[in-house]
Amino acid sequence: MSTTKLKNNRNTREDSFNILIVDDDELVMESFDRVFSAEENGFSVDKTTDARHAIDLIEKRVYDLVITDLVMPEIDGIQVLRKVKKANPDTEVILITAYSSSSSILDAMYFGASNYITKPIDPAELRLHVRKAINRRKSILERDRKIAELERLSYTLAHDFKASLLSIRGFARILLNDYSDKLNGDGQFLLYRINANVSTMESMIEGLLEYAKIGKLEINPENINTAKLINKITENFKPILKENHIDLIIEKQLPDVYFYRSGLLTIFANLIDNAIKYARYDAESYIKIGVSKDRVNSNANQLLFYIEDNGIGIPQKNLKLVFDIFQRCEKIMNKNGYGMGLAIVKKVLGSMNCSIHAESELGEKTTFYFTLPKKNPVTTNTPQNDGSQEITI
Ligand code: ATP
Ligand code: MG
Repeated sequence: MSTTKLKNNRNTREDSFNILIVDDDELVMESFDRVFSAEENGFSVDKTTDARHAIDLIEKRVYDLVITDLVMPEIDGIQVLRKVKKANPDTEVILITAYSSSSSILDAMYFGASNYITKPIDPAELRLHVRKAINRRKSILERDRKIAELERLSYTLAHDFKASLLSIRGFARILLNDYSDKLNGDGQFLLYRINANVSTMESMIEGLLEYAKIGKLEINPENINTAKLINKITENFKPILKENHIDLIIEKQLPDVYFYRSGLLTIFANLIDNAIKYARYDAESYIKIGVSKDRVNSNANQLLFYIEDNGIGIPQKNLKLVFDIFQRCEKIMNKNGYGMGLAIVKKVLGSMNCSIHAESELGEKTTFYFTLPKKNPVTTNTPQNDGSQEITI
């Protein structure tokens, strides 16, 4: 039984909008009081003149809106903003500043602030910005509610379908075991077909349930020795790689990453599985795994990994589509699969704010590029890197 806990459900929070105001100036705080006391109920406002206390509050509570001064002693508004966005990227942040043209404002916008207000604060302007921010939050909460409802529905349906399929399989088995002497060859063949189709549907539903689960459970990221993890995965693939004369080339000294173990296993296992499954057996096949050095990665905290193969390739029109559920390219229908693997990989990566895309030359090669967070320097659980060697199987 898994020890993971269900994520804190944001829908269980009180109905009011949680607002945090951070400003070291008592006088400015008073002007906020005048604005918020004039508003109708529905706001729950926390105020602090101490940015350190604000950081504590942000860690403990989900805020819909944070209004923070830009310039404060010790911890500035940008640090507060970054903390807020890390805790909950959807929280709206409004900056208070003495100057309307400052490079810090550009920084703030870059890190996700929705707007800024200049001092002295005009109550009408503040009220307008607060209303706008709250309206944006309302639509995001409504969107999340609808998604959660649809997910719940598909989860229930998938379970119901599974139960029905189980009984179809049971009845088909009884027919085959007890009545096969009463059926001719055609009848028996049709029963086998029913069984095969039931198996396909069961696998699709299993995939759908696995997909729905991603992001629902609490994940525990840790520093992971990527080379070791890939070696462990490829152990299982060794016989099939050997049988099909596929060279597996893993770059030396792969860097460690910060991810949750089961998620990382899913990513590499699915991408390697695809590279093997869609190899061209008329070529000297290879699969290369490494970190891209010639591409600019916009996020300094992430690494850009790649898995390249010289297999059948993916048509340009399908390059984005293949990441959707149950999408498979034409002309590969003799290969087993349900079109779930890449959708699961994309969602697992998304759960850690990472992304994936594919590039391909049809009939030549396919490369999947995906980002992974760099090793976390403050975590102490880094496993010993035993140095990865180049492996050719
Ligand atoms: P499943 O992973 O559920 O067993 P699948 O492999 O068909 O089935 P995905 O892994 O989601 O599903 O891949 C979707 C489609 O993308 C595949 O059906 C195939 O057409 C194409 N594809 C994926 N990887 C490659 C690859 N390395 N080379 C060529 N085509 C690929
Ligand atoms: Mg696959």
